[in-house]
Amino acid sequence: MSKQTLSFQAEVAQLLHLVTHSLYSNQEIFLRELISNASDACDKLRFEALNNNALYEDAPNLEVRVAFDQAAKTLTITDNGIGMSQQEAIDHLGTIAKSGTKDFMGKLSGDQKQDAQLIGQFGVGFYSGFIVADKITVESRRAGLPADQGVRWVSGGTGDFEVEAINRAARGTSIILHLRDDAEEYLNAWKLKSVIAKYSDHISLPILMEKEEWKDGELINPSDENGGRQPGGMVKTGEWETINKASALWTRPKKDITEEQYAEFYKAISHDHEAPLTWAHNRVEGNTEYTQLLYIPAKAPFDLWNRDKKAGVKLYVKRVFIMDDAEALMPTYLRFVKGVIDSADLPLNVSRELLQESRDVRAIREGSTKRVLSMLEDLAKHDKHDTAANAEGVTDVVDADDKAKEGKYTAFYSEFGSVLKEGLGEDFGNRERLAKLLRFASTASDAVTVGFADYKARMKEGQEAIYYITADTLAAAKNSPQLEVFKKKGIEVLLMTDRVDEWALNYLQDFDGTPLQSVAKGAVDLGKLQDEAEKKAAEEAAEAFKPVLAKLKEALKDKAEDVRVTTRLVDSPACLVVQDDGMSNQLARLLKQAGQQAPQSKPVLEVNAEHALVKKLDGSVHFHDLAHILFDQALLAEGGLPEDPAAYVKRVNALLA
Ligand code: ADP
Repeated sequence: MSKQTLSFQAEVAQLLHLVTHSLYSNQEIFLRELISNASDACDKLRFEALNNNALYEDAPNLEVRVAFDQAAKTLTITDNGIGMSQQEAIDHLGTIAKSGTKDFMGKLSGDQKQDAQLIGQFGVGFYSGFIVADKITVESRRAGLPADQGVRWVSGGTGDFEVEAINRAARGTSIILHLRDDAEEYLNAWKLKSVIAKYSDHISLPILMEKEEWKDGELINPSDENGGRQPGGMVKTGEWETINKASALWTRPKKDITEEQYAEFYKAISHDHEAPLTWAHNRVEGNTEYTQLLYIPAKAPFDLWNRDKKAGVKLYVKRVFIMDDAEALMPTYLRFVKGVIDSADLPLNVSRELLQESRDVRAIREGSTKRVLSMLEDLAKHDKHDTAANAEGVTDVVDADDKAKEGKYTAFYSEFGSVLKEGLGEDFGNRERLAKLLRFASTASDAVTVGFADYKARMKEGQEAIYYITADTLAAAKNSPQLEVFKKKGIEVLLMTDRVDEWALNYLQDFDGTPLQSVAKGAVDLGKLQDEAEKKAAEEAAEAFKPVLAKLKEALKDKAEDVRVTTRLVDSPACLVVQDDGMSNQLARLLKQAGQQAPQSKPVLEVNAEHALVKKLDGSVHFHDLAHILFDQALLAEGGLPEDPAAYVKRVNALLA
């Protein structure tokens, strides 16, 4: 392969621009990212070598070396991991493979501060080198390939990069950063050590630096470019020492790990720049023995909605990285969880397929799912802002640790609540625990803090169901005509405005023995909440209205399945409801928007016989137009659009004129 110049994928070029322009305020993270890549490369080698020991060549000890050259102003990070072939260097360092990258780029606003936050969630990895370097040279050879199939990749971090074949005896990768003038502080052993201690102490791989000694003016290593002499009298000795703890964080006893170390480890495995919301670190003993260190992030990642993405939980077997295949370790609805699971029982060299069928892996998955649910329950329990947990009477803040949890469940829920709801349809075994963790707004609270349990505690005497309504927005839900009678009687209704709500609630017929009832489905039956006099009056009104109803049905037969008199309306003339077993109009609309086929069931039009407009129908010369206006308005009121908007406008205008 002769030298060739290639262009970055458009997204990479855009990302690079942002990296260099937005991330300079937190320069030092580049070291964490590059060391984390080096560590991943070593993990990959270890894994491939399980089936092919020859890959270790003559260097079985995996390590990372960090070296700097003050004269050349370079900082070099070298690992003896899996390395890259020529094609891999082109593919991996010239494109971004992450799905959703395009969408992510679209979200960037151009505002540096905001974008820096987003980029933090995206994880810039290798490209973070350009925060401190105006040129990066990568030299690599993939394990197993001959020395003459090494590759050199060079780029100034703008539009393109160069690649060429080189001879490279050593397996693995060197990242050579040609530092910018404002990043020269990294040409200093003390600085490097302190940054590495901060970010990479938990890496199980040894990180080595060349030892330095004070030797004023003496020549120690004459072969060194600058005669072995460093300004300040520090000289390199040619001896390498391990500068990190080099023991995997999760294998250390809890009491020896500081909060900061937990947080840094999280940042390293998640590429998140924010500290996690909470974590749990446990050794699980019993039939299956494993260590779990699981984190709940504070912020949702940009690709939370991608259900296929690799999850953040990595499986290790006796400290050897095996896979980060999401589903085997965590259910999809917990895909936001990050962390490490290290099993003592699983065989090292087993295939992915076998792992997924393994009873031990299943036990780990179940145990870890339960652990995450308890973490969430614990957060809810200590969250004063969470009215649901308060209703259960368990919010006494007892110590500083608990105090720190205040507000955290609410924060968690606003980021990940929608994803958690998917669990109702996915994890039948934990459905009841999940149901307790759900929160909604309600007619009693705009904040999304009402749980089924506290709703139940507030139910009126004689109330037999938990009432809810689904709508596109909180305003639409609150002002929905279907709520009128509930408001009048002071009955709380849960307001559900999340797209997944209706789908998720399909899987939850009741909560703790109390049925869930949509106020927009079927006829309203307030049961014991309605007194005899009211029932009688309603029946009489319906009877008297019968002839008009028959005419309405006839006029609207193409649009409405049925027309009936209702008691659920107070101020509005009419509303639409769906049959008991029908799909709500809102869900049908969502499906249509998503290009899916929605079953074409016609709604039921319910009219308020007491309303002036409805009373006018009887004997009106405009009966036909009024009937259609009534129907179309009911549709508009719930966020729908008349099938023929122009005809609707024409009818209204005719009446107005
Ligand atoms: P990510 O690590 O999130 O995939 P990066 O931009 O950091 O993204 O790296 C892109 C890819 O480049 C990696 O997935 C890996 O395949 C390759 N790569 C980066 N650094 C190394 C390295 N030190 N050794 C081998 N491959 C590497």
